This record gives sequence, C-alpha cells and structure tokens, in this order.
Amino acid sequence: MTPGTLYLVATPIGNLDDITYRAVKILSAVDLIAAEDTRRTKILLDHYIISKPMVSYFSFNERQRTPELIERLIQGQSIAVVSDAGTPGISDPAFYLVRAAIAKSIPIVPIPGASAFISALIVSGLPTERFVFEGFLPQKKGRKTKFELLRTETRTIILYESPHRVLKTLTEIATYFGDRQVVVARELTKKFEEIVRGAVSSVIRELSGKSTRGEYVLVIEGATRLTE
Ligand code: SAM
Repeated sequence: MTPGTLYLVATPIGNLDDITYRAVKILSAVDLIAAEDTRRTKILLDHYIISKPMVSYFSFNERQRTPELIERLIQGQSIAVVSDAGTPGISDPAFYLVRAAIAKSIPIVPIPGASAFISALIVSGLPTERFVFEGFLPQKKGRKTKFELLRTETRTIILYESPHRVLKTLTEIATYFGDRQVVVARELTKKFEEIVRGAVSSVIRELSGKSTRGEYVLVIEGATRLTE
C-alpha cells in the first residue's frame, strides 16, 4: 500500500489572515489534522470553514501518539501537523513525528509560512545576515552554561521566552552580556503587538512595572568582539 503524506503546515502566529492559500487547501484535503493545541486550531479551521477530524499532538503525548500517527500514514491516510502557532517543528514536538516518518520512508511535505522568530528578526533592526536561533533557554539546569557560551556569540541571537520570565531573562542578559542592544518583540501580528528596542538596561526600565502578558521573542545583538 502507498503511504499517505505527512504535511507540515505553518499556521498564523496571531493574525488569522497570515496563512497561505496552499495551507488552507491542504488543511481542507487531508484525512486528519494533528494539532498541538486543538482549541486554537479549531478557531483557525472555523475561520476558514474547514471541518476535519483532529487529534492532539503536543509535548508529553508525542511519544505515545507518534506510533499511532505513523500507522495511519502507513495505511495511506494523509495527515497535516500544525503547531499551536507558526511553523511546526520550530520549538514544538513535530520534530519527533518527522524523525519517525523518515524512518518509515513516509513522504513529508513542508507547507511554509509564519514563524515568530523570523518576524521578530526582520523587524529588529539587528544584523540579519547571520543569526542563531536558540529557542527557549533551559529553565534551571544548564542555563548559566548557556549564557556563558552565548556571551561570545557574534551572530544575532534569537530566543523564545514566556511572559513571566521575560524580565528575569533580560536581567540575566545584562549580567552576562553587558549592556547590549536588544529587541523585545511582543504579541507579533496581534492587537497588542509591541516592539521595544534599545540597550538592555533601558528596555528593562521600560518594561518594569508594566504587565508582561503575551508572547515574546527576544533578539539580542551579537558580541562585537570576542571578550576572551
Ligand atoms: N512553532 C512556533 C513558531 O514557528 O514560531 C513556535 C512555538 S513555541 C512553542 C511558542 C513561542 O513562540 C512563544 O512562547 C513565543 O516565544 C513565540 N511566539 C509565538 N507566537 C508569537 C507572537 N505572536 N509574538 C511573539 N512571540 C510569539
């Protein structure tokens, strides 16, 4: 039997209009949608009047769910995997499914679109010709080591951060890296989109005392010269 195709479908990071025609076509055509956040994906599907069976596929159930999805693909079903927002596989569990599909020679097709880190980088004004995407920093173990390693990184550094840790992380950036230029990109493409640029000390001052609700990308100037 010919296996089905696994489609990695990028979805909007906020504004529901930020989806490609092709993504809408694929979501309308597949047998099943594996979604990181089924409630958020349902809003998107309803907006585009797409009605499809959905299963949840998120960190913590990905190891258990992967064999089940691979079996369906082997049986000839086509599956679209979507992140809660943005591009599947970027700081989300789609990676495991991709690895498992490769191992079974299942065709995998990317359907490109939005990703929060690319939008933050292009709007940052920091050098874009070379950059390093670090995703979420380790929360405890390995965090200090990571900051020490990144201190001498000369490329622009991009991090994902949660709202309740953003000020703490900015303070650590100031401690480990000095008063570098940073850009805090909040709620990109959404109603309360905000881009704060400046030296990390001034950005901390600007954000302190304000609500930090929302989703964040931090873009940090690379080291201008190696310090050791
Ligand atoms: N796969 C997604 C992508 O391609 O960007 C990222 C998934 S990751 C689990 C979620 C993180 O992405 C959030 O915690 C935040 O750091 C960032 N993010 C997602 N949407 C965002 C937005 N609209 N504005 C700023 N950051 C966003």
